[in-house]
Amino acid sequence: MTARQHAITPGFTRRISRRLTPLRARRDISFKLSRPIVSLSFDDFPQSVIDNACPHLDQYDWKATFYVAAGLAGTSNHLGLHFSVQDLKTLTTKGHEIGCHSYNHVNILEVSGAQLDAELNKNAQTLDALGIPKLTSFAYPYGEVDAAHKSSLETRFTAMRGIMPGIHYRKADLNQIKSMQVYSGPDIDRSIQAVNSLKDKPGWLTLFTHDVRENPSDYGCTPGEFERVLKAIKNSGAQVMPIGRTVQFLQNNTGPQTQHKGDNQ
Ligand SMILES: [Zn+2]
Repeated sequence: MTARQHAITPGFTRRISRRLTPLRARRDISFKLSRPIVSLSFDDFPQSVIDNACPHLDQYDWKATFYVAAGLAGTSNHLGLHFSVQDLKTLTTKGHEIGCHSYNHVNILEVSGAQLDAELNKNAQTLDALGIPKLTSFAYPYGEVDAAHKSSLETRFTAMRGIMPGIHYRKADLNQIKSMQVYSGPDIDRSIQAVNSLKDKPGWLTLFTHDVRENPSDYGCTPGEFERVLKAIKNSGAQVMPIGRTVQFLQNNTGPQTQHKGDNQ
């Protein structure tokens, strides 16, 4: 083995794999939009989302996707106190989508196939027992995914969201839906710019965050920042729908629609 081969570390291999994963095991859907769509999503999710984000969503009558790892119910971590079982029932009654995020929020690349199956089954059974509709959407915990998992999970879920930023114009990989983080700081302006760009070039943009509170974690934002993003969405004229519902909508909108200026991708 040469010195160069010795230099190929597991970390290096994983970085290369991360770059290639979006190109592999794709499940592309093609569509044409005359009006942009924005999907808001919350991962894990902390109680502060219920307290500080949901009232704003209610004002606009917008529905979001909440990716739930049921094992986090009632627990606390760096994101603050997490959701309660009652929160899940309330969100469902209000028409929001509950998605799967594994049971114990595991990195799917670090557990065996049997362990992952057990995680997904336990999450599904726990939420089913609460009367939550069947989970058809999934978000990769920590955004970690590879081609093999994209392939194996597509038999369970109709939409799988990652954390790779970007806007979908004429196609989306349902096995790794792009999403922009709404985290305190420069990410907020980046997200707002992406939302604003939809006015001239309609596409499907998904956004995600965690805690929404004053002094948020590195993975969340303040209520004021969240409100700025929502105002931009309102001004963009976008339709706001949960991720699962958007996929259903796009599957029914594959035919030719009006060509919009700048829509050249
Ligand atoms: Zn998560």
